[in-house]
Amino acid sequence: MKNFLDRLAKNEPYRSSVKSVKKYLLGICLIIALIVLSVFWGFHLRTNALFERQMVNSSRAFFEEIVITRQWMADHGGVYVEMRPGDEVNPYLQTIPGLKTVIRDADGKKYMLKNPALATREISEIADRQGSFRFHITSLNPLNPANAPDEFERRALERFARGEPDVSGFETHPEGQVFRYMAPLVTESACLKCHAQQGYTASDVRGGISVTVPASTILDEIRANKIYLALSVTGVILIIILIVSFISTFFIRDLKTAEQMLLSMAATDPLTGLLNRREGYRRIEAEHARAARSGKPLCAIMLDIDHFKMINDTHGHLTGDDVLKWLAAVLKKTLRTSDILCRYGGEEFLVVVPETTIETARHLAERLREIVEQNEIILNGSIRLRLTISLGVADLKTGESYEHLIFRADQALYAAKNAGRNRVCMD
Ligand code: GH3
Ligand code: MG
Ligand code: MG
Repeated sequence: MKNFLDRLAKNEPYRSSVKSVKKYLLGICLIIALIVLSVFWGFHLRTNALFERQMVNSSRAFFEEIVITRQWMADHGGVYVEMRPGDEVNPYLQTIPGLKTVIRDADGKKYMLKNPALATREISEIADRQGSFRFHITSLNPLNPANAPDEFERRALERFARGEPDVSGFETHPEGQVFRYMAPLVTESACLKCHAQQGYTASDVRGGISVTVPASTILDEIRANKIYLALSVTGVILIIILIVSFISTFFIRDLKTAEQMLLSMAATDPLTGLLNRREGYRRIEAEHARAARSGKPLCAIMLDIDHFKMINDTHGHLTGDDVLKWLAAVLKKTLRTSDILCRYGGEEFLVVVPETTIETARHLAERLREIVEQNEIILNGSIRLRLTISLGVADLKTGESYEHLIFRADQALYAAKNAGRNRVCMD
């Protein structure tokens, strides 16, 4: 708006502020949308982080539970369980010298030794069958090839070697998505009974236990939540855009009206409703350029009321104003719409007639003079006046500026005044 007013004041070509206001509003909408988007995105990231932390915590609890169970078993040198038909003794235990893998009670019932690794695998199989979770004990150098690490476990074991306390992440398995957690197992003296042959010493990281938790259901729920969140964000942004556009419709409508009013006020003479001198000059400049391009004639008529001061002095300034309005209406009615008519000064008017020869312009000036002279002005039903005007006519010479054309029409007007008024003079 300031730019619009500045240009208007400096008489420079002005541009409506509506476009820039629309741009600002669009910018505001974009900023609001970005803020809403980042707030929601932040919530989404935080929810994901909390969910992952929750998964890590529950997996760690499973891990610790199994470690404690294993610890208890190792402290007791394993446990003996009743041997049922088909049960086989862990072949890796049989390689350990002095270890009784099978014992009998007084009744001859056989019991076989279960070590922590075997117990871990069997507990894992029970948990897996129930669909809750799975354990896997593993190391880079396992006694039992079934305990060899998979890809996730191998990478985790390498990271433990670099000092990381645990490793976790999501994986896609053929049966669905799973959350995997793995932490190292530290060798304790009770473990050396069986594992010393692998060259381990106490407090070595000898491997780890990985925990695998099914995560498809929860991940599906999180995905659904993400879609709900995305829809909410879109909805909120759309509502904001709708509110801003609704408010801006009224604002822009008022702005357009205000600009139109300003433009018309800046271009119009308030008393007569004719163009003011500034707007008249702007249009004459354009007409002058067209005439210079086309070589078609262009004429200027400057006219002034004779002895107008006397009207003011006799009937007062308000009557003088009414006379000016009357003359403006007469001029407007007589001239073509393509002619430029403006109030030049107090009681002086300028007419610029395009595509008109000096001879036709002189006739037009003469006709104006006669109309004014022959028509009695009746104001407020009681004041009756007669008026005369003097006119100067000039036509545009090749290469002449429009200012100079107006100057010469003014000179011709002076000549008409000096020659006795109520006449037309040519430059
Ligand atoms: P001349 O024939 O030489 O033109 O004499 P004149 O009296 O018309 O010219 P002069 O320049 O002496 O006076 C012009 C007067 O026009 C003086 C001024 O008060 C009056 N005038 C200018 N603008 C207005 C206006 O807007 N309203 C009224 N009522 N009078 C105005
Ligand atoms: Mg005058
Ligand atoms: Mg005058």
